[in-house]
Amino acid sequence: MATTVREMLGRTGSKVDIRYSLKRHTKTNEIHIYKGSEAGSGKCQTLKDSVCGKATTSESMNLEFLCLNEGKAIATAAGIGRKMCGTCVSDLYETIK
Ligand SMILES: [Zn+2]
Repeated sequence: MATTVREMLGRTGSKVDIRYSLKRHTKTNEIHIYKGSEAGSGKCQTLKDSVCGKATTSESMNLEFLCLNEGKAIATAAGIGRKMCGTCVSDLYETIK
């Protein structure tokens, strides 16, 4: 039932780079990563579920880190440190191997 990035990007009909957005969970304050893409005109589109599957966008608030490329996402996550969700971060490292 989970939408994959591929499905989401498929709907746009064009080839788009996957982008990473960091959002803070409003209850736990943990920061999770959401995959998505730039929707054009500076808008950022993300999946509803975080990479780890433990958080959703509806229970999270946006930070200023939206639609980052892989390098920027890793640097940002490293800068945030312990507040980052470990599962989301390790998935990010897996992705770019
Ligand atoms: Zn997570």
